[in-house]
Amino acid sequence: MKISGSCLCGVVRFAVEAPYPYPYLLCYCSICRKVAGGGGYTINLGALTESLEVDGEEHLSVYHLGGSETNNEARDIAGRRFCSKCGTHLWNYDPRWPELVHPFASVIDTDLPVPPERTHMMLAFKANWVPLAVGPNDKTFDEYPDESLATWHARLGLAES
Ligand SMILES: [Zn+2]
Repeated sequence: MKISGSCLCGVVRFAVEAPYPYPYLLCYCSICRKVAGGGGYTINLGALTESLEVDGEEHLSVYHLGGSETNNEARDIAGRRFCSKCGTHLWNYDPRWPELVHPFASVIDTDLPVPPERTHMMLAFKANWVPLAVGPNDKTFDEYPDESLATWHARLGLAES
């Protein structure tokens, strides 16, 4: 489905085709919590890079994780795009998987479908004050989940044909 999003001040707006639009994947890592996760986690969607249309691109900034030599190179090149005027974080892009961008569900203005179950990831890094609300069919992982965005949507019959 086509989804659109915007930053708080509205100078950056985007639209993108999202084959994986269900906001089911909650990431509790400290990076996600700090950039866009006031409740303790962010939710990343899966959308097609080649379909991304951006208004106000000149206002975008990118944040790369720290460049110390102990970090692996791939972590360093992944970047989070945010509005340089209002600071809203908009999407994550990792050139290791160039076909996908990952908009934060929190900046999407389109009504998103309600996920029948959710996946909670990076729980090893969850802040202690964040409650873990696990539904009956939810899955939990200390680090990365065992399903990709595509696999999750396919398993539940929610993949677009
Ligand atoms: Zn803005």
